[in-house]
Amino acid sequence: MTGEWNNVDPTQVILSRLKDFGLKSIGASKWKAFCPLHENPPKGHKRSLFIARGNNGLPVLFCQACGKEKTTEILKSLGLSWKEIYAGRQRTR
Ligand SMILES: [Zn+2]
Repeated sequence: MTGEWNNVDPTQVILSRLKDFGLKSIGASKWKAFCPLHENPPKGHKRSLFIARGNNGLPVLFCQACGKEKTTEILKSLGLSWKEIYAGRQRTR
């Protein structure tokens, strides 16, 4: 998994994990997807997970239904952690 983080935008890594979750672009550097916690398997038309690329290079990620406090859990369910995301960000600087 380590190679995945070389020269990679952390937001891109998250997006690549969400390909099976109905990932949809909703604007410049903004996406929506099904929440891996409460909408897995993907169903219906409502995508509650919001993803954006922040100005600081860090991804913005939260589920509008589960709340921001569940973001760590969402990352975990995708096999990711904030630690990895921060490390990936540092490498892309
Ligand atoms: Zn959710």
